[in-house]
Amino acid sequence: MNLQFEIERIPKKNVGLIQKLLMEWAKDNKIPFPWQNNRNPYYALVAGVCAQQTQMSRILEIFNRWIDSFPTIEKGANASRAEILQVWGNAGYPRRAANLHKTLKICVNKYDSIIPHDEDLLIQLPGVGPFTASIIQIFGYGIDKTAIDTNITRIYGRVICGDPQPVHESDPKLIQIVAAQLLPSGKAHIWNPTLMDFGATVCTAKPKCDSCILKKICVARPKLHSGIELLPTKKTSTFMNSNRYWRGKILKILREKNNNSENFSRKNLVVSLTKDLDLQEKLQKLIDDLAKEELIWLQENMVGLGDSPGSNRNSN
Ligand code: SF4
Repeated sequence: MNLQFEIERIPKKNVGLIQKLLMEWAKDNKIPFPWQNNRNPYYALVAGVCAQQTQMSRILEIFNRWIDSFPTIEKGANASRAEILQVWGNAGYPRRAANLHKTLKICVNKYDSIIPHDEDLLIQLPGVGPFTASIIQIFGYGIDKTAIDTNITRIYGRVICGDPQPVHESDPKLIQIVAAQLLPSGKAHIWNPTLMDFGATVCTAKPKCDSCILKKICVARPKLHSGIELLPTKKTSTFMNSNRYWRGKILKILREKNNNSENFSRKNLVVSLTKDLDLQEKLQKLIDDLAKEELIWLQENMVGLGDSPGSNRNSN
């Protein structure tokens, strides 16, 4: 594919029209996010981590809980791993919380409590990939760019490239170039949340084209209107009995025990979850994995949430 040729096919008037229509849509539909307007790199980092693999509706809830408990980068860095995991609660994918904790410690110890703005430095921090790095740059430092996620890929892939299922079909390099072309100058802090919202509520996996403000200029609209069958964007796997399900159960019990400062043996933990011997074996492996990921501690036959007793909480 000749990317330059593809980009030149975007009519200039459509660029302006897409920007205008989406900005108008944002005025009526915008959810005010606390990290959107105040150029706080710490808030932007937390928001970027919360946004990974999380529905828009839950991001704010997790973000608020985190900032209420750890209002500054130092407060987060100096918390124990158990405190971090208590606050993260049942938000899912707790490795994100552990990585955020490690990142805060690095920023405090190595960067004088400042979160870097350079992408090369940002993506070296634990749990910070190109998407989260872009969120930090946009909302923390006012840099004009697009943080490309699946929502934004879906909108641009459909409206501009004409692909009904952009996550499967569109060239990521082309999406990047389109994103740079369509970004309204100086408005990245409004444009990004607008696109994310629009992708989460209108141009969804099963798009609501009939009520869409872009339907007259969307290149994929006729194909979608013809009744093309859409594949699910993600493999749907059963959560019940999955490793994720049991990891969540183990951490939930350990959070409760940690609240009551109770010691707990590894054997009692497993038996409290199941009497099935095969499942017990699987749970033992999951407990080992959680310990390797520094989410729980193991000492002899005891187990607990977060750092092992007596560990140095301020080390990186
Ligand atoms: S017309 Fe349909 S596919 Fe195109 S942007 Fe709107 S919702 Fe998405």
